[in-house]
Amino acid sequence: MEVNTLYRNSYPVLDINLDKISANARIINEICQKNGITVSGVIKGAGGNLKIAEQMVNAGCKHIASSRIEQLMDVKKHYPTFETMLLRLPMSSEVEEVVKYVDISLNSELDTIKALNKACSKLGKRHRVVLMLDLGDLREGFINPKELIEAAIYIENSMKSIELAGVGSNLGCYGSVKPTIKNLTLLANTAKEIEKIIDRKLEIVSGGATTSLPLLINGELPNGINNLRIGEGILINMDLPLLWNINIDGTHQDCFVFTAQIIEIKEKPSHPIGELFVDAFGYAPVYEDKGIRKRALLAAGAQDFAMYDKLIPMDACIKMVGSSSDHLIIDITDCTKEYKLGDLISFKVFYGPMVFLSNSKYVRKRIVKE
Ligand SMILES: *Cc1c(COP(=O)(O)O)cnc(C)c1O
Repeated sequence: MEVNTLYRNSYPVLDINLDKISANARIINEICQKNGITVSGVIKGAGGNLKIAEQMVNAGCKHIASSRIEQLMDVKKHYPTFETMLLRLPMSSEVEEVVKYVDISLNSELDTIKALNKACSKLGKRHRVVLMLDLGDLREGFINPKELIEAAIYIENSMKSIELAGVGSNLGCYGSVKPTIKNLTLLANTAKEIEKIIDRKLEIVSGGATTSLPLLINGELPNGINNLRIGEGILINMDLPLLWNINIDGTHQDCFVFTAQIIEIKEKPSHPIGELFVDAFGYAPVYEDKGIRKRALLAAGAQDFAMYDKLIPMDACIKMVGSSSDHLIIDITDCTKEYKLGDLISFKVFYGPMVFLSNSKYVRKRIVKE
């Protein structure tokens, strides 16, 4: 079934395998549930695809999460019973939309939470917040746990329409900091301190994203953490096996497959000819001279997938050469298969290209089953 058609059978195409995503979601939910951890299924990497949100909830995800409120508005309109979680700190310009369409938002600014409280009063709503602790990755969150605890107490005691749902942290996004026993223990301890003061359990102690799964799988996730927000690990599960060396039985890495068509095949030198300056994006790359090579030109480019080096050819003989805005160049010299003009070349994708491909209006999305 086609979600949006540019024209009939247009290329490039992104095949989305719902059954494989569903299998990944079930396996990860099972691992988490065994350890007393709820999963918030993150849909932003897939452009907020509603069918994927549905698979995630069917597989046991407690919330549907995204950094983009537009995607959560869409979820809430189609599935009013799904609990939504906003991952990016709310903008002051969107507080009314947040309390209307979002059940839980991640926060680090008391002024924003006050604005949410006000919007709740105006609209007769209630809203839950998770306070973010910055454990060193230096994106969002209170850097000082004491300040976070003070904010938590203030919300608990003084805000009418805002419920303190819990605390959370994010790692490995800006600062590439690894989740560890040490940094996540600080989060768990902060949660315990708040629980002691307010004399009740917190609903959510959210210990990160896909990158926290290795700790959980190795039995090292600190006690007290009871939620993870998982996107990549469910959607493509490429990083765990290929970067973290963690293979989870039964998971699929080809839930998203990108396919583009060959528009030229020629033998060419591998080093550009003439005086070199800069490429289409102003960079001055270094080109290795491998002599004359057989190259295929594909009709898809950086504006579709952003990073050609994060596409993995399904046919292992293919080497990635480079891309410009609208073209992808591959080396097919070592292939035994005789590729022809018009042939289709398919790739597995890492997270980067998945985000861009999912959001490109030039890429046809095709839901496949298998
Ligand atoms: C994107 C995001 C996630 C999910 O990250 P994955 O690596 O896809 O699992 C979790 N939390 C926050 C705050 C995010 O922005």
